[in-house]
Amino acid sequence: MFHCLLCHQPARAATDLCPACFGELPWIAHACRTCAEPLADTREELCRRCQQDLPAVDHCLAPLAYRFPLDQLILAMKQQPRPELVTSFTRWLAPPFSAQPQPDLLLPVPLHPAKQRQRGFNQAGLMAQQLGRALRIPVHHTLLEKPRMTDEQKTLSREQRQRNLARAFKLDRVGLIRLQPRPRHIVLVDDVVTTGATTSTLAALLKKSGVRRVDVWALAKTPLHTG
Ligand SMILES: [Zn+2]
Ligand SMILES: [Zn+2]
Repeated sequence: MFHCLLCHQPARAATDLCPACFGELPWIAHACRTCAEPLADTREELCRRCQQDLPAVDHCLAPLAYRFPLDQLILAMKQQPRPELVTSFTRWLAPPFSAQPQPDLLLPVPLHPAKQRQRGFNQAGLMAQQLGRALRIPVHHTLLEKPRMTDEQKTLSREQRQRNLARAFKLDRVGLIRLQPRPRHIVLVDDVVTTGATTSTLAALLKKSGVRRVDVWALAKTPLHTG
């Protein structure tokens, strides 16, 4: 017998949630193509921010909003920590992701090694591993690294933030070029996207090394505009 992660009533094994709670997950109906920001007008393809400054990401899909009750589950996954929750998240997301153009390679957004040691796992790495297995897409865990910490950057200007982010990550270019067949289309996997600055930085890095298309698959999007 399985029990719902949220209300502890009997659950369907396939989702780890009872039907009522699964129906209450904050699915996003329509969103910006390049940053996953929810959009009210279904005729719009890009949010205002992306219209002004198009990110290096070609398509960002984050099917759920970072809102109650999902935010509680994501916090529990990171803080307790409960890596088994990643398996549930992956089960919910495999269907929408499998309907997307399938990439040659999945790359998890890296964590700083100190942070990874503290948590015991990289949630993006675990998601990528499980999605890769479910959708039969290769995954590489060390092509992207984060050798430098990026702390709270709220007081910095947009340019300073971008410069810091670009310095925080490292791409193993030789490793990428040696992969056979050479990946043309890569999907970056992350748990939560906020502004999309990190994934855009990583997408730019990959494109400089000849990758043609970079998409993002994330579990959730923190909406920048509420309502
Ligand atoms: Zn429930
Ligand atoms: Zn956008």
